[in-house]
Amino acid sequence: SIPLSFFGGLGGASKKGILIKGSNYLEALAKTEIIVFDKTGTLTEGVFEVQDIRSVGITSDKLLELATYAENYSTHPISMSLKRSYGKDIDPSCVKNVKEIAGHGVIANVNDNTVAVGNGKLMNELGVSYLDDEIVGTILHVSVDGTYAGYISISDKLKPDAFEAVTKLKSKNVKKVVMLTGDSDLVGTRIAKKLNIDEVYTDLLPADKVEKVEELINQKSEKGILTFVGDGINDAPVLARADIGVAMGGMGSDAAIEAADVVIMTDEPSKIIDAIGISKRTLGIVY
Ligand code: ADP
Ligand code: MG
Repeated sequence: SIPLSFFGGLGGASKKGILIKGSNYLEALAKTEIIVFDKTGTLTEGVFEVQDIRSVGITSDKLLELATYAENYSTHPISMSLKRSYGKDIDPSCVKNVKEIAGHGVIANVNDNTVAVGNGKLMNELGVSYLDDEIVGTILHVSVDGTYAGYISISDKLKPDAFEAVTKLKSKNVKKVVMLTGDSDLVGTRIAKKLNIDEVYTDLLPADKVEKVEELINQKSEKGILTFVGDGINDAPVLARADIGVAMGGMGSDAAIEAADVVIMTDEPSKIIDAIGISKRTLGIVY
């Protein structure tokens, strides 16, 4: 049977926009020893602004247009941001044979052209050489019919409570705060430094994130819990693999809400502190 205090705990959490899918998770949250955050959409807003366009052989307007068309059917935060920046209507009948490759980017036919938009990994797979500028933002390389056409650099903002979340977690018995990202080393390390994250792993594919979480699970004590917090985009397998998977629910990814043990409806990473606090108080631990 479930102790009565647990109902109070689950109810108190839900009033704060934290849905805990069972008393076992409410109890386990207090034992969080390692906390792992995904970057995009979790610690950062997931709303990218175009910073710079560098086109090769075509105009930058054309580059942005082709890239945005190729991204038309994707729901990735990068794609949503690109469509917002482009601002004009897209005729979807121009876009066919779309392939989205997790952690890489998209390839699609836009009218008579084959357009690929993504990171260096995608270009490498297509055998397209690209400009390797030391740009501070996230870089979207674009190729048209197998020829390099330039890049669009985009950048995202930290969520206002990201720093507070990391700082408070470290003062509340969490031994290690880790960030995982499929983004580049340049972007990942810069953000991790700003937030005082203990460990950061970059350039990860979704499967690499699962592997990393497994490695980290082996580092914790027997009774400790590894809690992963992600936005659910490309990270449903990690949400499932962690001892406790926490998803940002406001982004509206059904797969994430399904795979998660805890859902933060307000998308604020600092809510994880409230969740752990409610768990501790439910167990009668001073927090
Ligand atoms: P994160 O780990 O930051 O949440 P993802 O695993 O979703 O990121 O994506 C990792 C990287 O893959 C992105 O930084 C980007 O370079 C590339 N990528 C993924 N999806 C897309 C897309 N739809 N368009 C362009 N690039 C993409
Ligand atoms: Mg992600």
